[in-house]
Amino acid sequence: MTDTAPTHSGGCLCGAVRFVVAGEPVSGNHCHCVMCRKDSGSGVSTFVTFATATLKWTGDTPAEYESSPNCFRGFCPKCGSSLTWRHGDYADFLDFRLGSFDDPAPFRAQKHLWMTSALPAFSGIDPDIAHFDQSSI
Ligand SMILES: [Zn+2]
Ligand SMILES: [Zn+2]
Repeated sequence: MTDTAPTHSGGCLCGAVRFVVAGEPVSGNHCHCVMCRKDSGSGVSTFVTFATATLKWTGDTPAEYESSPNCFRGFCPKCGSSLTWRHGDYADFLDFRLGSFDDPAPFRAQKHLWMTSALPAFSGIDPDIAHFDQSSI
């Protein structure tokens, strides 16, 4: 990564957990699965994936909850904001919740995941990108 790569900062609601990543996301998705729904309290969860090689935690680091075998959801231990998702076998990448970025407007999702669980209220968003019944790499 060069020093000229754009950086993107973000963090939790209370500001204790802060991060910076560089470059552009390698992918993005709208996840409609039940676990993301419970984790966020929202009808759909949008994530952007960055390479962890560029990641710097600049405040506290998130606590993690193993929501399914080898899948970890990161959250602020002070305010509870849900921030990240990762699979233990893919340490080179980390999914960040779109809303955790200070400026999420530039990022786009390329796919919908877990459409079999999608709520009717959210099944019509971003209709022109790929839809998958379950997950997709
Ligand atoms: Zn916090
Ligand atoms: Zn999900």
